[in-house]
Amino acid sequence: MVAHADPKAPTMTHPTSTTLRWNWPHLAVLAGLPPFAWLCSMAALSAAAMLTLGTLLSLAWLMWAERRWPARPGWSPGAGDLARDGAFLGLNAVTDAAGGLVLAWLALSIAAMVPGAAADWSPWIAVPAAVALGELGPYALHRWAHRGGWGWRVHALHHAPVRVNASNNLTAHPVNVLWNQFARTVPWLVLGFDPLVIAWASLFIQVQSFAVHANIAGTLGPLNRWIGTAELHRWHHSTVPAEALNFSTALPLWDQVFGTCRAPCGRGPAQVGITDLPPTRGWAMWRKMLLVPICPRCA
Ligand SMILES: [Zn+2]
Repeated sequence: MVAHADPKAPTMTHPTSTTLRWNWPHLAVLAGLPPFAWLCSMAALSAAAMLTLGTLLSLAWLMWAERRWPARPGWSPGAGDLARDGAFLGLNAVTDAAGGLVLAWLALSIAAMVPGAAADWSPWIAVPAAVALGELGPYALHRWAHRGGWGWRVHALHHAPVRVNASNNLTAHPVNVLWNQFARTVPWLVLGFDPLVIAWASLFIQVQSFAVHANIAGTLGPLNRWIGTAELHRWHHSTVPAEALNFSTALPLWDQVFGTCRAPCGRGPAQVGITDLPPTRGWAMWRKMLLVPICPRCA
């Protein structure tokens, strides 16, 4: 395959910022999650409100930190990128809500059939277990999607941007959003996790999905072995297939278990994006990538 040659693509250089040794903005988000979740519980916020507020606050913080301490200045989103990401935010919010309705019905049906084995677990055990379990299905589907065929036609949309930053985590095909949502949530329902545990695990996974895309300088050092980081995930967006490992998002656990982990080694990929973009650009390209997997004739 010939590498995608977009004249507007930023020049890919290796990390240039030396202003941060540690990626403390990511650490600050992680440290802020427990008190945030506790405050939301005290305020009796619904799980949906907590997720929405936590996601938006984290995204705003990460995008501010990206501007202040970019890992690669060429990866800052332009106005066109933000318009695209905003459009996908709207589309996928509707998709997520529709998937949530089906899952709510499933939750009631499953609760009537299966005793909640995990319902009485301590949150100290249940939340990490729910996060690890919630990552397994999306990890398996993510690996499958990268093997090509219809799965790749759906997932390629997320890899199409030629910059990796927090907001383009939103740029994903709605079908991709749905399969992740179901693969993550159905095992939680079958095991009968407490709804509050599910809400906390969802918040952690959601916030991590933005943080691992954030274009913020600095490292998380030894924590790369335990949690998902931008250092790990940038490799996943490499145009070089052999480098595009690290299929997990919130935790590197399943990559380590199944041998698909590519550890950071002081630099990131030379170029990110995909090599098989449609021969169109701008909104026409995004429309085509949306339609091809679900209605090839309409594309
Ligand atoms: Zn991928």
